[in-house]
Amino acid sequence: MDRSAATATGPLGLYVSIPFCRSKCTYCNFASGVFPASYFERYVERLEADLRVIRKQADVWGAELPQRVDSIYLGGGTPSLLPSELMRKLFAAVRSEFAIDPDTEITVECAPGQLEDTTLEAMAKCGVNRISFGVQSFIDDEAKHTGRLHTRAIALRDVERVRAAGVRRVNLDLIAGLPGQTQASWRESLDVLCSAKPDHASVYMLEVDDDSRLGREIGAGGLKYYAPQVPADDAIAEMYAEAVNLLAAHGLPQYEISNFAQAGSESQHNLKYWLRKPYLGLGLDAHSMLQDHAGRALRFATNDELELFLESPGWDKPQRLTREEELEEAWFLGLRLNTGVRLSALRAEFGEKPVRSFDPVLAGLAADRLIERDGDRVRLTLAGRLLSNEVFGRFLLEPVSAE
Ligand code: SF4
Repeated sequence: MDRSAATATGPLGLYVSIPFCRSKCTYCNFASGVFPASYFERYVERLEADLRVIRKQADVWGAELPQRVDSIYLGGGTPSLLPSELMRKLFAAVRSEFAIDPDTEITVECAPGQLEDTTLEAMAKCGVNRISFGVQSFIDDEAKHTGRLHTRAIALRDVERVRAAGVRRVNLDLIAGLPGQTQASWRESLDVLCSAKPDHASVYMLEVDDDSRLGREIGAGGLKYYAPQVPADDAIAEMYAEAVNLLAAHGLPQYEISNFAQAGSESQHNLKYWLRKPYLGLGLDAHSMLQDHAGRALRFATNDELELFLESPGWDKPQRLTREEELEEAWFLGLRLNTGVRLSALRAEFGEKPVRSFDPVLAGLAADRLIERDGDRVRLTLAGRLLSNEVFGRFLLEPVSAE
């Protein structure tokens, strides 16, 4: 069976989580928090130690850990809070354990207004060639009401600063559905984003998690965090649809549910997740997908408690996916992309019969106008992107016959 279509082990994507933030956003439920700067050094030392042992650990698990790396992503949290010497130490440790391809995409997530000149300079010297700014809104009050610390002026100035430092690729994140957001203010944020001419944009629809401060306040019917001003689902859907159209008209067509890019500027790192290519996650609450020697997917994650993590990464036992689980993932990860899922590639990888067992799911989704067929390809419609969690849930419910 041809497994090369989606899963052949190629160069590795490396994700490093830096879980420190200067303030906690009201909607956030990530394993991130506000910690004293004294934790930063211990944390980087932990990462250095984990980098030194990861190859041996992968051997113990029977996992293939590619030596070559062609994408690196520092996410969080707010990695731009790392002081320059720790940023240099971290990249030096990565380069001593892996062979980094010369044209590797190296992204660092930054919070506007939280990037020191010395850190920016160190990042550029370390080969960082892409910066992702968590702007969320260019309307100052909207940003402030969710706990962000920047203004529009600061965010736009930072975009210019990173370009002046030689980092040409810039992603700007926005969130549709922030408290107090209106169709007019959303349009203004989109217009400002387009005027900044990033080569990539991410637009997320606010999903209020019950574990966030905002989620708990909404659940309790309270007034804090501007909870009563969260827009209705219909309004958020309208904002999302407007973003899809407006960004495409400004040269940033959609290529994934939440992502938009100029041709050739798609995030190479994030594509690995959707195309099921191997990636290694280091740091707090970091997830990995490697393959065993038979090409089967192995998933594992680290601890999500900082104090425990500083003692040991606490890698959980790798979960070896069944072929059925791999096929389900191939459906719902592939459908995230606008190119959709290529049926012939899926059949080549998993066999005719298991793929056919999803025919009733596809028929139901097509009848509900959530997916569309285009020859060999199956794609989400706009309605399907708006209800993507429901679509993916239907793939998980289908019993699959293994070939
Ligand atoms: S900056 Fe990001 S990780 Fe930090 S609190 Fe805000 S949303 Fe969460």
